Amino acid sequence: MASGQKSLMDVKNKRVLVVGLGKSGVASALFLQERGARVAVSDAKSPGQLRDEIPVLLDHSISVETGQHGERTFRDQDLIVVSPGVPYDVPQLAQARSMGIPVIGEIELAARYLKGKIVAITGSNGKTTATTLAGEILAVSGSKVMVGGNIGTPAISFVANSTDDTWVVLEISSFQLETIESFHPKIAVVLNVTPDHLDRHYSFENYAAAKARVFENQTVEDFAVLNADDHTCVEMISKTKAQVYWFSRLREIERGTFAGDGWIFWRNGKGKREIMPVSDISLKGAHNLENVLAGVCVGMLAGVKPSDIRKAVAQFKAVEHRLEYVATIRGVEYYNDSKATNVDATIKALESFPGQIHLILGGKDKGSDYTVLNALLAGRVKRVYTVGAAAQKIESQVRGTEVVSAGTIDAAVKRASESATAGDVVLLAPACASFDQFESYEHRGRVFKDLVRQMASREQEREPAGSSTRGGRE
Ligand code: ADP
Repeated sequence: MASGQKSLMDVKNKRVLVVGLGKSGVASALFLQERGARVAVSDAKSPGQLRDEIPVLLDHSISVETGQHGERTFRDQDLIVVSPGVPYDVPQLAQARSMGIPVIGEIELAARYLKGKIVAITGSNGKTTATTLAGEILAVSGSKVMVGGNIGTPAISFVANSTDDTWVVLEISSFQLETIESFHPKIAVVLNVTPDHLDRHYSFENYAAAKARVFENQTVEDFAVLNADDHTCVEMISKTKAQVYWFSRLREIERGTFAGDGWIFWRNGKGKREIMPVSDISLKGAHNLENVLAGVCVGMLAGVKPSDIRKAVAQFKAVEHRLEYVATIRGVEYYNDSKATNVDATIKALESFPGQIHLILGGKDKGSDYTVLNALLAGRVKRVYTVGAAAQKIESQVRGTEVVSAGTIDAAVKRASESATAGDVVLLAPACASFDQFESYEHRGRVFKDLVRQMASREQEREPAGSSTRGGRE
């Protein structure tokens, strides 16, 4: 890494246990094996649940333990690499630590080998959007860029192709930050901190402290980018030695990016500089303006030309399933926000449209309080269509608008399309997890989009060329 303080690990002939066989676990096991480590993996799931992962490991002569972790599995090791899905304080890991066995995560493992400069982006919401955008802003200037981490490709898979001039842009979760030691981003961004994952972190303070660890190894040579409109982010200033830059949607700031008079500005202590008009942004909603401000700030700190930044932002379309535009049919716009798996994200989605919304709500309840939606429902929503296991609970809590029990997404789309008129919006922003009727939020989003696109093509067949129906904006 450019900072020059990397502690490379020689893992040759070392006994290394990889715990948790997600994408990053499999990638870590293969990486370590390639470097001559004696790798074993352990996952609490059954062999059946791991049928996609096990063959590739066995092909590389990596031993795989499934189901219960063996008594000795965690003891006879020189190093343990733990996946973000495994709680930090499971007894086996606590015991290993007490025996002096180093326990690190895949991000830390990657950080020890990666070349180039790291941009790390964390926060409760917006990570994927801001990370993807920051990657595009850096790429438009012709830099060598790799984008991944908590999304897409695990960081460890970038090691082989990283060079000193690579920008490695990583989405980083609070779980991943729990197991870092030397991870050292050149630019670290915290987008916002709202209560989430409290089952794992126990308190909001612990959760915020985990997020702030992204600054832990930064020096005065590095940059911390913080949301000036989020008071937990503002308090984080005491946690970093890096040069702090802010972004704000609401007010002018001394150093960083901000929005005002329909423009995005940059200021570095001195006079402000126009970067681009807000109207160039195709993403919906104030929350996405924050994501853009963060991305623009990263671009300016990395030395990207403002004209290139403007070009990258203007070209950027919503990441799939994040308030993603699908189609307009007879003047009704359809949006897929299947990633809105909690009430907070649904609020942000509703705030992104002035009104005339047909909202599809429901799925697997996460113990949420849906009454917090009521003020927005009364002001902006024409009808709610409930689906999935949470339907009854939602119906008993929501007020201020008409509620239709649709049961399935299929029926909800049908009913909404029948009653929506030109100028309305049909929005899937379900405020629930998807696992009652779908494999994942991605699966749910794809089903919604397929239904809408089928309707759009039926409509196109029916109407002559030049009608009001148009396809997706992608
Ligand atoms: P993450 O990777 O942190 O989950 P995403 O970009 O995938 O973030 O967005 C997750 C959900 O949160 C989406 O429904 C999206 O519309 C909403 N969202 C995106 N950015 C923000 C933000 N800055 N503040 C609040 N909500 C956001």
